Amino acid sequence: MIEELKTKLSSLEENYTLKIQSAATLKDLQDLQVAALGRKGELTELLKSLKDLSLEDKKTFGPLSNTLKNKLTALFEEKQIALEAAAVNEELAKTNIDLTLPAYTFDKGRRHPLVIAQKRMVDILSKLGFIWAEGPLIEDEAHNFDALNIPKNHPARDVQDTFFVKNAVKTGFVLRTHTSGVQVRAMQKQKPPIRIIAPGRVFRSDSLDATHSPVFNQIEGLYVDKNVSLADLKRDLTVFMKGLFGNKAEVRFRPSFFPFTEPSVEVDVKCVFCEGKDPSCPVCKGTGWKEMLGAGVVHPNVLKNCGINPEEYSGYAFGMGVERLAMFSLNIKDIRTFYENDVRVLEQF
Ligand SMILES: [Zn+2]
Repeated sequence: MIEELKTKLSSLEENYTLKIQSAATLKDLQDLQVAALGRKGELTELLKSLKDLSLEDKKTFGPLSNTLKNKLTALFEEKQIALEAAAVNEELAKTNIDLTLPAYTFDKGRRHPLVIAQKRMVDILSKLGFIWAEGPLIEDEAHNFDALNIPKNHPARDVQDTFFVKNAVKTGFVLRTHTSGVQVRAMQKQKPPIRIIAPGRVFRSDSLDATHSPVFNQIEGLYVDKNVSLADLKRDLTVFMKGLFGNKAEVRFRPSFFPFTEPSVEVDVKCVFCEGKDPSCPVCKGTGWKEMLGAGVVHPNVLKNCGINPEEYSGYAFGMGVERLAMFSLNIKDIRTFYENDVRVLEQF
């Protein structure tokens, strides 16, 4: 019986090898595969007689039929690839496509330098534990000025500095002049500890020139908790500046005045272009320092206005212009560069 099976195996091999080679279409090939290896295929049927064989014969016939199965499977695959390639070539022959032509290229978009700068700042502040907060662009005077200890007669509230929004129903709305309204809202809503940053667009009634724009971007930060002091502010802002301008960056704090902080400071960075050594440096104008941001310990009146007890809590706040810092770190001389969207400029970042 085993000899008979062996003969059947070899005739099956011969038969299908020939048929596979001469298959003209994918459909023919599929039919052949079913006829040979399918559930009721010839080889499958042949394998069923395995159970009637003696143990010895099984040892011979089993491996033989497996080898054939693998061989036929490989032949089917090989032929399928060949037929598919032939079909593609046939389609191509009907058209005039020149596959040797170089492919079209598409310019990839990239981040705007302001977005790159803002992302760098936000990344560093996030590592310091600050959480991104947002607020409305059209703000009421209570959030934009009153809560921040900015009195009614303060020059910042003048029409020359602020865009007032005229509304038939309500008055007292402005295009926010800083993102401090976001800080006010956070303090009104949340019990300390509060540690937020408020990045976003702000509006001032300035005319557009090399260093001013009526719309620019700001990042403000606020930290309120028990025992927050000027020392915390100096530590965190020094870490921030070194993160931004490198470990060697020197930071200087100068006394200043803002209605919403007491004491208030201006924060300068040693000019990264001349390191304070070039009296004719155009970036720092020979002073060796560049003013980067304003900050201070939150005025007790501001905490009180926002429903936080200044006897129990204290905080610090800071605010900076993204454009100003980006101009300094990227050595851009004119703020308008950011808004003109000249591709030749944007491509450099
Ligand atoms: Zn300089």
